[in-house]
Amino acid sequence: MTSDKATDRLKWLLKALRESGFLPLRVYEPWSRFERCIRNGVERERIWIATNLVEALADVLSGTKASKIRISIDLNSESYAIAIYDYKNQCIYHDFASMSFPSNLLSDVGFNEDERNALHQKWRISLRKLYNSNKGLLLQPLNKVDLSYLDFMSRVIRNAFPQFIVAIETPKPVPTSFLEASNSQYRADSVLSWLKSLKGKWDFVLGIIPEDICIPGMDCPFLIHDKPAFARVAILSLGMLGYPSERRSLIEERLKKQTLHIVGHFLGLPDCKNDYCVMSEAESLEDLDSKSSSFCLRCLARLLPGRYIQSEG
Ligand SMILES: [Zn+2]
Ligand SMILES: [Zn+2]
Repeated sequence: MTSDKATDRLKWLLKALRESGFLPLRVYEPWSRFERCIRNGVERERIWIATNLVEALADVLSGTKASKIRISIDLNSESYAIAIYDYKNQCIYHDFASMSFPSNLLSDVGFNEDERNALHQKWRISLRKLYNSNKGLLLQPLNKVDLSYLDFMSRVIRNAFPQFIVAIETPKPVPTSFLEASNSQYRADSVLSWLKSLKGKWDFVLGIIPEDICIPGMDCPFLIHDKPAFARVAILSLGMLGYPSERRSLIEERLKKQTLHIVGHFLGLPDCKNDYCVMSEAESLEDLDSKSSSFCLRCLARLLPGRYIQSEG
């Protein structure tokens, strides 16, 4: 998506929110600073932060008694805090995402010092829980896949998710009965259920195959997993990420995105509508190359312990 299109989309979303009638949308600084950025031209990554926020708001607003919203964004650290208040001025929803605790942003959206301290305490506890609960992921090389790519994947996962224990299994040949008779592609659904039987004590299994994978009647997908979110088993085709003659750095970049995308699904993220986010669905190499290898703030917020939904009253 071009920057212009993203700006149009953002304006449209803001307008739709303002026109939704029951909601007097009040946008506080530094949002207005952001609106100035749009006029002056701003990188598309940053526009995405804002469109994410507005989409997240649209999600939570239906069916609530929201009467006031406060948003605070720090464009430099790409962090945000949102608070939604009801007509009694009680906070009925809040959400924040940041790599460190965004105390100043929370005070911007109306939390007093005691509330911030209480949130900080909760945040610390859930952060500790998150990083102390180890997850075991088995990388299963299939057929004659180049093993150096598995070392690369293992590094990618451990860098992004320190709580993961990653093991690389010895390579296994895929039963030839899983080959489609008409061509040299493997039936992804059959390989997936076979991989499931190899999972054993591991939380997740990710199989990597050099050949193409397919599901009859569908376009060839790059990767297949058992469930849209909280997947346990997945398979990805290395061969479909490019010809072996292509630059290794290009193949690695694509593999990194695919690996993080899969781990996102393992951790409960669904596909993301943000084209820039690593969790957006890539249907072609072009899609894959144009998205980033980072999680958008909205996806990040689901992975970080910042998201609380308060019950009303
Ligand atoms: Zn996906
Ligand atoms: Zn996302």
